[in-house]
Amino acid sequence: MAALRPRAALPLDAPAGLGSKRGMAQAQLTIDLAAIRANWRALANATTGEAGAVVKADGYGLGVARVAPALAAEGARRFFVATAHEGIAVRRALGAGPEICVFSGHMNGDAEIIRDHRLTPMLNSIDQMLRHVEALPGHSFGIQLDSGMNRLGMEPAEWSALREIALAQKPVLIMSHLACADEPSHGMNAFQLRTFREMTDGLDVPRSLSATGGILLGPDYHFELTRPGVGIYGGQPFADARAVVELMLPVIQVRDVAPGESVGYGNAHVARVPTRVATVAAGYADGIHRALAAKGAVWAGDTRCKIIGRVSMDLITVDVTALNKVPEQLELLGRHQTVDMVADAVGTIGYEILTGLGARYARVYTGA
Ligand SMILES: *Cc1c(COP(=O)(O)O)cnc(C)c1O
Repeated sequence: MAALRPRAALPLDAPAGLGSKRGMAQAQLTIDLAAIRANWRALANATTGEAGAVVKADGYGLGVARVAPALAAEGARRFFVATAHEGIAVRRALGAGPEICVFSGHMNGDAEIIRDHRLTPMLNSIDQMLRHVEALPGHSFGIQLDSGMNRLGMEPAEWSALREIALAQKPVLIMSHLACADEPSHGMNAFQLRTFREMTDGLDVPRSLSATGGILLGPDYHFELTRPGVGIYGGQPFADARAVVELMLPVIQVRDVAPGESVGYGNAHVARVPTRVATVAAGYADGIHRALAAKGAVWAGDTRCKIIGRVSMDLITVDVTALNKVPEQLELLGRHQTVDMVADAVGTIGYEILTGLGARYARVYTGA
């Protein structure tokens, strides 16, 4: 009958900031544009040539309409997106000047978008090359080469067959991508560098090989342009990055759970000792991975509070027994916990945590 025992209500602190338009049960994602600019600046300073900026997947989930102009204000002139469609929002955000390059190249049906938004496809095959020059003769393009990753780009044989024709059309960039740049001692790095050089040495076209990880491998890997992405947004492998995101989750309710009582779906957590549990307004629909229930925590000031029970669609439950006073909000990302720490807890990478940040958060930009 323990479950039916009446409990004393545990009042939360009075809500502050009643003037805000945010719903009180809406989590707040704060994105520090000054930190984004500082991270790009640091990577640009570490680059021997020019640094571009990768803003695919809506600026790694942080909102390209705000992120791209901040990077342009800091001096970025070449931007990269995954698909032509992504380029539309980036062109809108940036206006006419900057170059916007498309990793997927020129796909069937993309000609109009590429032309209207003045995008620069990185052509990945002979088919794409033919499609591009036929649909949009004289329109800018680059070439993507496969130096060993076997994901995108022309392989050495295809490139030798097409080289002279492609060069006659004046590509603005020749690029390739490293598979293992986050492991500096991996032999694949030197192998891909050698392959890329063999495919491109002596050509009078700017070259690009390195993303964030490649920048950190040193100047041999930089060529004329680098393409940092995750480091701009505060993620590994850029260890010196400034934190960019803070995610604060509102506490909806607090209750005391007696030994033997369970918490959440599947009775996944059973209290062994008297436990104070906070129910917090964010769940897997907001990008909080269900696997975070096993090892994850949120922070109340400097106190780590374990997530207990299962992650629900809209809620998580947190052990706040150690707190004298339960704050209105708990930190999932911020000063105490980086995207990479959360990623480690669920067995993924910071990139996936960033790009999975949900659409329901109230997004606040600072440092503009
Ligand atoms: C995503 C991507 C980048 C950026 O990589 P980061 O590791 O995020 O810096 C650069 N180039 C290509 C081809 C990419 O797909």
